[in-house]
Amino acid sequence: MKESQTIAAISTPPGEGGIGIIRISGAEALSIGAKILRHPSGKQIKSWPERVVRLGYVVDQDNEPIDEVIYFYFKERRSYTGEDLLEIQGHGGYQNLKKILTTVFQAGARPAEPGEFTKRAFLNGRLDLTQAEAVIDLIRARTDLAQRVALNQLRGRLAQVIKEQEEKLMALLVPIEAALDFPEDEIPELQRNEALNEVNNVRQRLKQLLDSADRGIILRDAATVVIAGRPNVGKSSLLNQLLGEERAIVTPIPGTTRDFVSEIIDLEGVPVRLIDTAGVRQSDDPVEKAGVEKARQLMTEADLVLAIFDAATPLTPEDHALIDFLSAKPALIILNKTDLPVQVTVESLQSAFPQAKFLSISALTGAGINELKTLIRDELIGSEGLAEQPALVTRVRHKEAIEEAIELLTLVVQGIAEEWSEDLLAVNLRAALDALGQISGRAVSEEIINEIFAQFCIGK
Ligand code: GDP
Ligand code: ZN
Repeated sequence: MKESQTIAAISTPPGEGGIGIIRISGAEALSIGAKILRHPSGKQIKSWPERVVRLGYVVDQDNEPIDEVIYFYFKERRSYTGEDLLEIQGHGGYQNLKKILTTVFQAGARPAEPGEFTKRAFLNGRLDLTQAEAVIDLIRARTDLAQRVALNQLRGRLAQVIKEQEEKLMALLVPIEAALDFPEDEIPELQRNEALNEVNNVRQRLKQLLDSADRGIILRDAATVVIAGRPNVGKSSLLNQLLGEERAIVTPIPGTTRDFVSEIIDLEGVPVRLIDTAGVRQSDDPVEKAGVEKARQLMTEADLVLAIFDAATPLTPEDHALIDFLSAKPALIILNKTDLPVQVTVESLQSAFPQAKFLSISALTGAGINELKTLIRDELIGSEGLAEQPALVTRVRHKEAIEEAIELLTLVVQGIAEEWSEDLLAVNLRAALDALGQISGRAVSEEIINEIFAQFCIGK
């Protein structure tokens, strides 16, 4: 069976490093260790104390030394993977580590697939699926805030909340299913009321999770912020102000010449991808029209649009076209060039955007840029501390499962109130449980599991 085979991989990134780590996980970890590791004296290793760091040599099949290493052993059930695990730290260099790994393979291990160590940890019950997902989120986190939220998830905060709801629903389901098996003991009225309360409690808790999901997803995936405005209003200047010293990493979007997309930047803890559009223009030129379409599409898909207007020039038809287009979209209205004599006032724009937030800045002098950053952060994730939340949803996958569970529980509530048959209640309760099981991993398809771990790097 593939799962039971012992796997090995280099767990440190490629390239030169002070050390490089090779991990071996599976039932044969120690027998492989015995074949390839030697005491500093050259003797065979007979004892393998747990969690003790030891010095030694890796040798090849001809007993020739390959590298001086330290190694340690974790016993099954007490290791990261839940299997026997041997970790070898050699000198970090490509040839060196490749030679060690080749020796490990010759001794009986097979190459680990991406994320396979963590996948085994999940399959062996060391982590639930939210915790396993948090491993990759922690590795990929781009801001301090995103890193802290991932750590909370790794420590099981979301897992705990989901598990509690699962247990509550299970406690309801068990007596209903029992009543179905013994129809003469009907569920008395009182229990129906209790059941109603309990289902409503679970539904309430899930709704709370859902409320913060969009903000959580932004922290994990990064927000897309589009800078829009007619030519010359100062889009590129503002982009540079927001990028600060990260200016050097602005790169063109492939396939376009006038749009620029930034690498993901850390905007007050929020990972943000900034896009400078070509501007929404009124034009009959087909090339220009394509640009307008592209800009509109970017604005439609954005988490937030920064709409820039030039305070020093009266509004043009193009400005009005932008105002019309943005009327119902999440946008911050920015009046730029306020260092110059002002022709356009906040008041004149306010009537067009009764809901929007306004800010006056100068992309030339930098005035108002810090306020703008705070405003962008607040629009994207709110001002309260997301990292301090007891649990946060950071994946679309989780959000959808929670939505599904809430829908099913709403049916259950209706069913209890309308005195539906027990088996109908049981079916919907069971389905709600399974929706939550997609999050915890208790009820998730192998396909989804494989998809999740395929996003990992090899060696994790
Ligand atoms: P874009 O076409 O919207 O990207 O505009 P740019 O950022 O290229 O700016 C157009 C011109 O306006 C440049 O000459 C900038 O130096 C100038 N500019 C941009 N922002 C300001 C500002 O806040 N104040 C002043 N005085 N000039 C600005
Ligand atoms: Zn520009």
